Amino acid sequence: MGKLICNICGAIIDDKNYSFNKEAFPKENTLGNIIFCPFCGAPREYMTLENQKIKEEKYDLNFENLKIIDHAFKLEIFNGDFYDRASELAKNVQIKNMFKSLSKVEYVHAKIHSKIGKFIVKPKLKSLNYSRYKNDRELLDIACKREEHAVEYYERYGKKIDNYQIKKIFNVLANVEKIHIGLTEKAN
Ligand SMILES: [Zn+2]
Repeated sequence: MGKLICNICGAIIDDKNYSFNKEAFPKENTLGNIIFCPFCGAPREYMTLENQKIKEEKYDLNFENLKIIDHAFKLEIFNGDFYDRASELAKNVQIKNMFKSLSKVEYVHAKIHSKIGKFIVKPKLKSLNYSRYKNDRELLDIACKREEHAVEYYERYGKKIDNYQIKKIFNVLANVEKIHIGLTEKAN
């Protein structure tokens, strides 16, 4: 396959990484048919061939917009941390692997926001104790709720933010999180 660039997260997708994080997707990429960015989950329409260089977006954000991005950044780290911990706690191997892949995807989302907001420091979030969730079903339930919250956030603040490119990114990420809702519901 020719190399592809994801216009949402900036990853270069090639024949070595096209199937990364496959547990985080309802369908699998194949060499001949790339459906999602394996890193951020953006659909194929947001990818271009490597030789069609996209210009790096320069963001000059006002305080309100920066606040929205900062919150999105924290939300994704929070969810990435959750999935990371949930993957340790889950008993079922498939669910464990799905949580691990979802964790990686959410961290890529966090990286997208840190790039937009030029955030250098990873925020220290209160670490929650998830071991009170007794079984995989409870972990899936909480995962699903978090995804719903993320979708709500992106949809609500995608309307408020006044930058076309960020609106687009929020819209794409909302759809990726909707796919995660489907995955966590289905596994339950
Ligand atoms: Zn991507």
